[in-house]
Parts: sequence; structure tokens; C-alpha cells
Amino acid sequence: MLHDRDRIFTNLYGLQSPGLDAARMRGNWDGTKFLLEQGRDWIIDEMKKSGLRGRGGAGFPTGMKWSFMPKQSDGRPHYLVVNADESEPGTCKDREIMRHDPHLLVEGCLIASFAMGAHAAYIYIRGEYIAERDALQRAVDEAYEAKLIGKDNVHGYPFDLYVHHGAGAYICGEETALLESLEGKKGMPRLKPPFPANMGLYGCPTTVNNVESIAVAGTILRRGAAWFASFGRPNNVGTKLYGISGHVNTPCVVEDAMSIPFKELIEKHGGGIRGGWDNLLAIIPGGASCPVIPAEQCMDLIMDFDGTRAVKSSFGTAGVLVMDKSTDIVRAIARISYFFKHESCGQCTPCREGTGWMWRVLNRMAEGRAQKREIDALLDVTTRIEGHTICALGDAAAWPVQGLIRHFRPEIERRIDQYAANPHSEPVLQAAE
Ligand code: SF4
Repeated sequence: MLHDRDRIFTNLYGLQSPGLDAARMRGNWDGTKFLLEQGRDWIIDEMKKSGLRGRGGAGFPTGMKWSFMPKQSDGRPHYLVVNADESEPGTCKDREIMRHDPHLLVEGCLIASFAMGAHAAYIYIRGEYIAERDALQRAVDEAYEAKLIGKDNVHGYPFDLYVHHGAGAYICGEETALLESLEGKKGMPRLKPPFPANMGLYGCPTTVNNVESIAVAGTILRRGAAWFASFGRPNNVGTKLYGISGHVNTPCVVEDAMSIPFKELIEKHGGGIRGGWDNLLAIIPGGASCPVIPAEQCMDLIMDFDGTRAVKSSFGTAGVLVMDKSTDIVRAIARISYFFKHESCGQCTPCREGTGWMWRVLNRMAEGRAQKREIDALLDVTTRIEGHTICALGDAAAWPVQGLIRHFRPEIERRIDQYAANPHSEPVLQAAE
């Protein structure tokens, strides 16, 4: 259980002002100069020791990512880019940071940029986040005015920070598509290698980090790596923002320790499942791309990277989608498939063609208008998309379908039987859009 004194985001609900004075009262910008004086290597070392893993979904160790940047510049500038695109359905945690605790992010940008030898950073914010962009821009302006950042700032490290507003494409949350978009081109993922640490924004060494990963940096360095590492269990440490949505009594975004049991998370913060635990059907633990977990596997589920992997799902962004027994699970996954079909950038054939194919088949299956052998054909198609595309959107589209078939095959078969018995009846349910 996380005590209030151990929370990093102390204004998550906007009860206080997001402005600079209030942020300073909460401890933001406290001793930042001292932290920078400890040097680049110390900062990266502390971040490594803290065990922080990226909070954007992939869970790559943040300190290690920072250490991949060249130690010496070869003449090209270095950049930090913060991924604030947050378009994964079910995920809305970074939004709370940007609108209520933006100075944690601004300070984190300075610290991370210093550690990587970057004198400029860009925050790429999702197109739909208008109020958040305004709040963030206000915080950046305040930081410039107070000379906390800028060419000639009190920290003695010239640093510029730009907020860039996207146009609302999910694929721009993929780091190389984000860089393309930032450069003014179409948001289409790049082939890797070269990786951004060698050839990123404008062909220069670049690190792309999630908002939460950067916003926690200042507090980790102030309170020490050991403090942060004391929460959770090995390989899954720290505090974490969880987003709880769907069929719970009190949906919310909340900060708690990593590795919290799922039941405790829902009871303590989500107000319990609507209609009680017996009414739980399934959850998606970390945003729409994570495979669904049926109720019986949720009871002992530990909410962290390893806990969700043990049940063949993934932790993602910890945006938990809770579905009770009123949910039409086949149609719900069909709707998710539609989302990925819509957001595919179309560069790779397996993704461009496969996402639409999966969606059409799932739509028929939701109504029962399918053959049972098509279930295995659908599963087979997911394996031909997964791992065969330029970026992870292909995997993201395949995994929910795999999770559905793994756990809810009997439900799909039941609909097929029902339709076969009475083909002239009305479809069992409406098709997704
Ligand atoms: Fe585009 Fe899909 Fe290929 Fe990603 S996997 S590059 S979204 S076509």
C-alpha cells in the first residue's frame, strides 16, 4: 500500500493549482541545480539503479535507454522527445500529469536532456488534447519566465523546450512515426535500424520517452534510487499511474505501487466491480492492444510486467479496461479490431490487409455468421501479422484477437451454432461499425 508521502504526483486530481508557485510548494524544481551538478553519469547511474522501466508500454529500462545516447557529440545536436501522444484506448494517465502536474514533466525534460547532452527537447502531444496542451504550454512559459529553462537559465545549462501538437493519429504514438510527424512529414513508422539513439529527429541522436517516465525523474533523483526501488517486486519496481475504466463503480486514474494485486487495485480505487466480483467477465490490463484476461485468471493477478506476462497478456500502460458480464466480448474485440484497421498507416501488407480482414471476420463471428473452421483460420492469420510488420501496430492488432480465441472460443462457437440452427433469425447482435 502506497502512503501519501510516497506519491510522486501529488496534484493528480487538480485540487491545487498547476502553476509554478504551487508546484514549487509541492517540491517541484527543488534542488534541480544540485542534481545537475552531480553530473551526467551520476544521473544515468541513479536512474538505472532505480529500476524504472518505461511507462509507455514497452517497459524498457529508462536509465539504460538514456545511456545509449552518444557520450560525445560528433557535431550533431542531441534531442529528447517526449511522447505525449497517448492514443491507446483505455489509457488516460499522461493527460492528468500534463494538466495538473505539468512542472514535474518540464523539470524532468531538463534533467533527462542534461543527462543525454541534449540542449533541446520536444513534447509531442496528442491532437485531441487541447486543454492539456494549453496547461503544458503555460508551465513551459512560466519556466522560461522564471529562468528555470531557456538559453540563460539559473541552472547554467542552455535548454529549450517546445510543445508540438499532433493531429490525432494513433500511429504517431509509435516513436519513429512520431519523429516523422515532428519533422513535418506523414506519420509513418521508419524501419529500424538505424535506431533513434543514432539517427532520430532530423537525423540526429534522439531518445523518445513516455511522459510518466520523464515526469518521475526529478523525484527519483531527489529521494534516491533506493526509495523508488523499494516499491513493487524485483524487475517491476516503483510507483505507477493506473487508469481504471469500464465496469467498476469509481473509474479513476491513481498512483499506487507496482505489483499491486489486481483485486486490491479495484477494491481500493475502483470501488469494486459493478454488480460484484461474480459479475466480472474479463479485463484488458494495459490498453486495447493487450490480450484479454478472463475473470478466473484475474483473481490472483499481480499488476506488473511479469504478473501480466504470466497470464499471456501484457502490462502495457496499466490502463485497465474492466468488462462485466453485460459485455458482448466478441463484439468488443471486433470493435478494437476496427480501431487498429482504421489506424493502420498502410505501409506493410500484413497490417494493411490483415487488420481489415480480421475485423470483417470478427464482425461475422459476433453475429454467428461464420464456420467453426474459420476460428483457426483467424488465429493463423494473426500469427502471419504478428512479427511481420515494420512497427508494433501489427502485433497490437493481432494480440486482442488471439486473447479472444484463447479464452472465449466456446462463446464464438455458441453463436455459430445458434445462427446455424436458425439462419433466418435476426443476428444475435449488431455488428460493429
Ligand atoms: Fe504501418 Fe501497420 Fe506497418 Fe505499422 S505495422 S508501419 S501501422 S502498416
